Amino acid sequence: MVADGGSASGGPWPPVSIWRVALAGRCPRCGRGPLFDGLLSVRPSCPVCGLDLKAHDAGDGPAVLAIFLLGALLVGGAMWLEFTREPPLWVHAVLWPVVSLPLAIAVMRPAKAALVGLQYRHRRDEMQSGR
Ligand SMILES: [Zn+2]
Repeated sequence: MVADGGSASGGPWPPVSIWRVALAGRCPRCGRGPLFDGLLSVRPSCPVCGLDLKAHDAGDGPAVLAIFLLGALLVGGAMWLEFTREPPLWVHAVLWPVVSLPLAIAVMRPAKAALVGLQYRHRRDEMQSGR
């Protein structure tokens, strides 16, 4: 395990943009190691710098963001489709799950990475001690 240093200057690791963490799914400390192990699972630790990522606590934040954002978009889309095209009910039943699942993952992945990055930035001690 590599020590962070924990000094006021941030140790040997230069600050990593939260946008890089969120959009590229990179480690919040080194910015190089992959954050995810699979689709939405955060790795136990960074393979590059060794940051313990088990202590992250993104909680339900990414899911809530996806629910609010996609709920508004998809309900609006469903209403627009219904009122302009009047398709049979099975079209809604087939279309919206196919549209919503990839969009939910596309929203939740960067949201989860951003929350892990923000937690590292603002609660670094908790994350490094595993509390
Ligand atoms: Zn790292």
